[in-house]
Amino acid sequence: MQRLLLLGSTGSIGRQTLDVVRANPARHRVVGLGARQDVAGLLDQVREFAPERVAVCEPEAAERLRGHLPPGVALHVGPSALVELAEACEYDLAVHGVVGAAGVLPSEVVLAKGRVLALANKESLVVAGGPLCALARRTGASIVPVDSEHSAVFQCLRGEDLRRVRKVILTASGGPLRAWPLERIRAASIDEALAHPNWKMGPRITIGSATLMNKALEIIELHHLFDLEPERIEVVVHPQSIVHSMVEFVDGSVVAQLGPPDMRVPIHYALHHPDRAAGPWRGFDVRSMAHLTFEEPDLERFPALALGWRVVREGGSAGAVLNAADEAAVEAFLAGRIAFGDISDIVARTLDARRGPGDAVGELLEADQQARAHARQLADALAPEKA
Ligand code: MG
Repeated sequence: MQRLLLLGSTGSIGRQTLDVVRANPARHRVVGLGARQDVAGLLDQVREFAPERVAVCEPEAAERLRGHLPPGVALHVGPSALVELAEACEYDLAVHGVVGAAGVLPSEVVLAKGRVLALANKESLVVAGGPLCALARRTGASIVPVDSEHSAVFQCLRGEDLRRVRKVILTASGGPLRAWPLERIRAASIDEALAHPNWKMGPRITIGSATLMNKALEIIELHHLFDLEPERIEVVVHPQSIVHSMVEFVDGSVVAQLGPPDMRVPIHYALHHPDRAAGPWRGFDVRSMAHLTFEEPDLERFPALALGWRVVREGGSAGAVLNAADEAAVEAFLAGRIAFGDISDIVARTLDARRGPGDAVGELLEADQQARAHARQLADALAPEKA
């Protein structure tokens, strides 16, 4: 029986993780559930999975939950609730589906405890990949990626020597604006940018799939997970999202992992690794799709993508700054305050203004705060009417 902690339980990854648990309830026991504010969703989960502890980040939401909790369930409340939950629970594996840099400190706790971190919160590695990977090496913790591309690479690399990798080819769907001309992309509406053709995800990552900023984050995540230099990381646009990524070895062999776009598959893999357990998910039927296509990414129409390689080369606080600026810019776009094309401009300009190194988690979160403030100022200057 695997004891499972779920961070971000009411979000897209959290709900799909509980689907995986439902498919094999004898294998997993949910000991902790953490959410930001979705009290109704969390309460349903508490009744179904009977965890020992829950966490709610928004204090007002926590107060609405308190009276409804079954007796004996401990409640952690406030901005540090997820960190407290990760510290207090006894678990073997934590699935981390929190969105954004808010996921960094909970990751640090799981790794400090030497547990398995099934990581969907790519921002943990984008912001603080250096110190978090060093921490995992010290404590013997392992990071198993849940991000579908990184799960694919992880699977392709099983039993392989990283020195024998010529390059990793990350696939990108290209997002909903893939075939649009530059001027139309820059003026894309919120609805157009949110209309992802293949994956159902939260709004931040969906906008990131439209700008290709999500793929920039994934380049940085890949660099930290597998210690890959930017020269060994390639991106190819693959609109069908069937090939989740590929690894080319020094002998010219290319190994790929394929499947339908369903996050429950990489979640299931992460929960059972190193085993490959039976699951109810369907495979990829080669006869159902006559053509899988691949094309070069267009860095002129999607300038955010190039920032991924830039950040890996610059190192230090560059990942923290990129991520914070993007979170702030996407927030401003979703509030209708800036244009779609402004998002990558704001992120690039915030990176240009970056000062100083960043090695420890605390320094990187400090750089995050400064970059967030800088990006908000740039958005304010662009906004037709100030908030
Ligand atoms: Mg991904």
